[in-house]
This record gives sequence, C-alpha cells and structure tokens, in this order.
Amino acid sequence: MPPVKYEHFKEVCQARGLKATSQRFVIFKTLASTACHPTADQLFDMVSGKLPGLSRDTVYRTLNVLAECGMLRKLIMPGGATHFDGDTTPHHHFLCEQCGQILDFEWPDFDNLPWPEAIGELGRAKTASVLIMGRCLGCEVQ
Ligand SMILES: [Zn+2]
Ligand SMILES: [Zn+2]
Repeated sequence: MPPVKYEHFKEVCQARGLKATSQRFVIFKTLASTACHPTADQLFDMVSGKLPGLSRDTVYRTLNVLAECGMLRKLIMPGGATHFDGDTTPHHHFLCEQCGQILDFEWPDFDNLPWPEAIGELGRAKTASVLIMGRCLGCEVQ
C-alpha cells in the first residue's frame, strides 16, 4: 500500500465531519501500513510507543469511529474477536484455524456476482465479503 499522507487523511476526515487529530492519524497510518489485521489490543501495542500517554480506550474508540466512517474495515472472526483492516479496497479473507493469521485474497468473480433476489426480502444489503477457513502454508508444512 502507498504511504498514508497526513494531507490526504485530513481531507478524508473533513469530508466526514471528523477532526483529523494527530493521534487519529498515527493510529490510522499504523493500521494502513501493516498487512496484518490486528485487534485493538494488538494495535495499541504497535502505537503506544509512538504516542506517549495514549490509552487503550482511545485506540478502541478511534478504531470504531474510523470504521463507522468507512475509513477502515472491522472484521468479526468466528471466535468473536474483532480485528481491523486498513485496506478498504474490495478483498476477502483467509483465516488460518491453526495460528489465527488472517490473509488477504482477491476474488473479482465473486465481487461481480449479482446478489440473490432473496436478499431483498431480508433487508437492504450493503457489502458482502467471504471468509475462507483452513490452514495456512506455514502451518501446513509443520
Ligand atoms: Zn497458520
Ligand atoms: Zn484484509
């Protein structure tokens, strides 16, 4: 992913009526520049060195605010853990049941499928993404 620029972050925030604070920027930038999909706790460990005095609660709240604005994706895993994804381009996830790693993959054929008509009877759909579970290559060879 290209590096996240503050100017761009500020524009996106302003368009959504959010204040582009430096704390929010560091949290967003850290998430956007990692390929892993951390939980709020893991992200707190990644940023706490860069933001002295930052509380775990602020990280939780910031991630949720940015997720509500569509600036990042919230992934709820089958075990119930919430992970965050800084990549909002269409992609899907592979979850390794052995090590818990979440990996990205693209599936344009799926993205282009029309939604079943039956969905209309259930509600108004907004997004669809696939979670495939199995064992990652690293775990397979062991
Ligand atoms: Zn694995
Ligand atoms: Zn992802």
